[in-house]
Amino acid sequence: DIEQVNKDAMIDIVGVVKSAADVSQITTKSTNRQVSKRDITIVDQTASISATLWGKDAETYEEYVNANPVIAIKGAKVSDFGGRSLSILGSSVFNLNPDLPEAHELRGWYDNGGNNEDIASLSGQRNQMSGGSFKIISQIKDENLGMGEKADYFNVRAHCVFMRKENCMYKACPSAECNKKVIEEEDGTSYRCEKCDKNTPDFKYRLILSSNIADFSGNQWITSFQESAEAILATTAEQLGKCQQDDEVEFNRIFDDASFKIYNFKIRAKMETYQDEKRLKCSAVSAQPINFRQESKRLLDSIKQMEGM
Ligand SMILES: [Zn+2]
Repeated sequence: DIEQVNKDAMIDIVGVVKSAADVSQITTKSTNRQVSKRDITIVDQTASISATLWGKDAETYEEYVNANPVIAIKGAKVSDFGGRSLSILGSSVFNLNPDLPEAHELRGWYDNGGNNEDIASLSGQRNQMSGGSFKIISQIKDENLGMGEKADYFNVRAHCVFMRKENCMYKACPSAECNKKVIEEEDGTSYRCEKCDKNTPDFKYRLILSSNIADFSGNQWITSFQESAEAILATTAEQLGKCQQDDEVEFNRIFDDASFKIYNFKIRAKMETYQDEKRLKCSAVSAQPINFRQESKRLLDSIKQMEGM
């Protein structure tokens, strides 16, 4: 119902935090002060909406960043910045995972398939802005992206034209918080993690996929780690690891299927020095196969925006 609410209205809502961006710093125009902000996407059975946490709230949210908590907000301010979005102000009161009937209902819905539903966003434009703007590949060079002190984040829509199968994964320490490469002991019965300083009988596969992506303007090498690589290859690291060992045909099929597919990539670009040589390093923070309905809406919105200029 938020679409029917006027700009600047204060509303109370409860929903699940579907995603949370990294915390970032912006300088406010009014006070010229640096303030932290973090965009989150809140979803329920009917719609999703972008909301912004400010200051300390943005920072302390960090511990929930991968947790998809239920959030209940009293007094969120509605803005009409790119569709509809919410600002969680100093005067707003919010609770994470509150003990409310609505919260339990949402939790049940979300955990039982709601998280995979394709839910319409009230904040089309805003989503892109919070996730970084869309660029074409030639803009990476033209705009010197990644050359600043901080990494640059942006989205590109591009085809995956080539993936390196060699060394696309490694055997890593199986403990939850550790992704360190393990060393297979000579007797072949266990794996050693130097970081944890212990031997384990098993390991987990971790992906580190190097791929070349291209659009009409150019191409770029990027590195994708676990989740984004799994999204590109449409399989799990574990599955790919199994195939690599005993099903070469299937292993090659997975790569063939992903080749020349189109994705929306969220890219992190940063200059890095390696052996005295400076190189632009681009990695995929996320990769999503194109949802054509959403993508058409995004393009239509951006045409509308240009017409308005
Ligand atoms: Zn370890």
